[in-house]
Amino acid sequence: MAVRNILKFGDERLSKIAKPVTQFDDDLKSLLDDMRETMRVSNGVGLAGPQIGVLRRVVVIEIDDLYLELINPEIVSSKGEQYEDEGCLSVPKYYDKVKRPKVVTVKAFDRDGKEFTVTGKKLLARCLCHEIDHLNGILFIDKSENGQKFKERR
Ligand SMILES: [Zn+2]
Repeated sequence: MAVRNILKFGDERLSKIAKPVTQFDDDLKSLLDDMRETMRVSNGVGLAGPQIGVLRRVVVIEIDDLYLELINPEIVSSKGEQYEDEGCLSVPKYYDKVKRPKVVTVKAFDRDGKEFTVTGKKLLARCLCHEIDHLNGILFIDKSENGQKFKERR
């Protein structure tokens, strides 16, 4: 396992659309292991492939004792609304409010290629949306209350 370098806001790879994973092989497993380690040493609750320069649709999330690996995740339903502060390992030391659904259900594949669904509320719902946005080249500052001002200051 290895800790990967996390790309920061301004790196154009963060605004690219990631490609679906087609091979559930050993390379994928070691990528996921590296992502988990990188997220943990960075004290993050989620990490997406593009954040380490891997333009593949892979996400890891860890909230308390729930650890999730999501390959090719897709939001299949969402309801309600929440408006809470978010941060991002690619946008250090900046937090801002983002409108998200209160509950989301996501369909994804695990590291062995088996399909599963997960429903998240509150923080997990935000995190699922935030990480899936990364796969589509979207950062939370593209949607947050003061994100435009933040980007103009940079
Ligand atoms: Zn992020």
